[in-house]
Amino acid sequence: MPAESSRGDAAKLPRKNPVAGFGVTFKDVFKKRLTEQYPEYKKPTAPRFHGRHQLNRHPDGLEKCIGCELCAWACPADAIYVEGADNTEEERYSPGERYGRVYQINYLRCILCGLCVEACPTRALTMTNEYELADRSRESLIYTKEELLAGLEDGMVDTPHAIHPGMTEQDYYRGLVTEAAPGTERQPALSKGERPAGEGVEA
Ligand code: SF4
Ligand code: SF4
Repeated sequence: MPAESSRGDAAKLPRKNPVAGFGVTFKDVFKKRLTEQYPEYKKPTAPRFHGRHQLNRHPDGLEKCIGCELCAWACPADAIYVEGADNTEEERYSPGERYGRVYQINYLRCILCGLCVEACPTRALTMTNEYELADRSRESLIYTKEELLAGLEDGMVDTPHAIHPGMTEQDYYRGLVTEAAPGTERQPALSKGERPAGEGVEA
């Protein structure tokens, strides 16, 4: 009985035009193509797109990061690891007392929300528009301080180096330091093990 009933129901259904199923296809054939020629052509992002982070420098090259860890505490994904350390007059990375000795962002965890940027008190941490963050190993997606630190622009000297003569930490934030003082030289980076003792100092 149920089988006969379903045959009867099918007979009552209206017969459909077999060509009607191509309606969507025909409609789209004449639309403008939206194919992106990536990676040959990289479409510019919106100006405020949240991409890879950057650790910024002051205009003389000293680092803005003070190693306070506020960004790490603000991160909902626990993606940031920071270890701060004290500056010394012989080896200075930032104008104040402390600097970020170790800084890592784990892009396997990061959701690019930008909360860390909001938490940073010195504008040391910002986000670029770079979105190509895929890689072949988990380790390579943990970005180190050296990878995140902004490049050197005109008038900058790479850290560590002395504070601008006659300037205070506050002067840096008042915008009074506009470039490295003439004769500023890079100091030996002993704590990072970048230079063995006795090796020459790079200008
Ligand atoms: S963008 Fe968001 S998820 Fe990524 S490190 Fe910053 S706070 Fe964490
Ligand atoms: S990036 Fe900003 S919030 Fe994070 S440790 Fe450095 S100064 Fe502090």
